[in-house]
Amino acid sequence: MFSFEEARQRVIDRVEPLTERELLAVRSTLGRILAEDVRAPFDIPPLSNSARDGYALRAADLTGSGGVRLRVVAEIPAGHYSDREIRAGEAARIFTGAPLPPGADTVVMQEHVQRRGEYVEVPAGAVKPDDNVRPRGEDVKSGEAVLEGGSYIRPQEMGILASLGLTQVWVNRRPRVAVISTGNEVVEAGDRRGPAQIFDSNRSTLIGLLQALGAEVLDGGIVRDEVDELRQAFVRASGNAHAILTSGGVSVGAYDLVRDILNEVGEIDFWRVKMRPGGPQAYGRIGPAYFFGLPGNPVSAMVVCLEIVRPALWRLMGRKDWQPTRFHARLREPIRKRPGLMEFQRGVLTYTAQGWEVTTTGPQGSGILRSMVKGNCLIFLAEERGDYESGEDVWVEPFPMAWL
Ligand code: AMP
Ligand code: MG
Repeated sequence: MFSFEEARQRVIDRVEPLTERELLAVRSTLGRILAEDVRAPFDIPPLSNSARDGYALRAADLTGSGGVRLRVVAEIPAGHYSDREIRAGEAARIFTGAPLPPGADTVVMQEHVQRRGEYVEVPAGAVKPDDNVRPRGEDVKSGEAVLEGGSYIRPQEMGILASLGLTQVWVNRRPRVAVISTGNEVVEAGDRRGPAQIFDSNRSTLIGLLQALGAEVLDGGIVRDEVDELRQAFVRASGNAHAILTSGGVSVGAYDLVRDILNEVGEIDFWRVKMRPGGPQAYGRIGPAYFFGLPGNPVSAMVVCLEIVRPALWRLMGRKDWQPTRFHARLREPIRKRPGLMEFQRGVLTYTAQGWEVTTTGPQGSGILRSMVKGNCLIFLAEERGDYESGEDVWVEPFPMAWL
């Protein structure tokens, strides 16, 4: 029996990142993983420029306790460069984003001065040296690694890539992941359902999770609890996919065949993990494909996929900047628990004037998929702990959504 953390680390450690990459238009890279460091070919901003509409002047002219009167010798709108040097006693009319002219080092806001003909009067205290100037390279310095290979591309990364003048970048290829449901009782939504059958929900939740991660999904359908059919489905998937996600068939009943077949056609690492929901799980490989055998119960399959498989898939995708989002929330009700298993209860997290508070979603059976629907987080209850009291701080992890 492994602890949750041991199991999670083991699964992550077995995975090697894919090395294939592809060149993509920057605007198609949302949610992708950058394949290599991106260095800046020039400074951003490329020239020191004005942060305000106002007057560019020399700080040296601001000495003394009174105001100063400066002669306006140039006008510089954004997009223009003026090489007229600003000398002692001079200023330039300047607009936001326009490069500072030679000699000037400070900008006074237009609201703080009086313009009189070709002169501008700057009152004492209206501006301090270097005010309202965005120095060359304040955002990005030439040669600097602006983005690191392995980082997840959000809108701001897309923006900075464009600001470097790039139109295309190398990103890691998306892994192809096959998703297979197992079970004689499981039928496809839309098909005819016998009285003892249930519609397949796991394939939909797992496909959704994979889509959110940015994997390419191969739909492996539903496979009955028959040795030949399972063997054929697993072998076929291993020829097409980088990873295989199955649900069901990994506990110890007579119809739980996934372990045996994985063992026969590949290598297996089967564990009982000290966690609830989701105790028994099967991991391994079939040829080059990684195999993640999730439990069948809908909540178990999702929780194990989120907590154990997700970090392994990020590693497969070459993402280096992922970390779990966990924080403390005040528990608003007591929770009964026996020591011995790490529990992941579904919770509702609310932000209040007192900070984050959390309640459970009610009944926590591993078949109650509505607990995932009602909930917006997992509540982490430590393996060694017994009952939790109302008012305690507990660890929570919000359900992942799009980066927003
Ligand atoms: P198993 O581990 O195969 O015995 O499955 C455990 C429980 O999960 C059983 O009650 C199954 O009916 C249910 N289950 C298995 N696969 C699915 C699925 N794809 N969708 C919904 N429920 C499932
Ligand atoms: Mg089954």
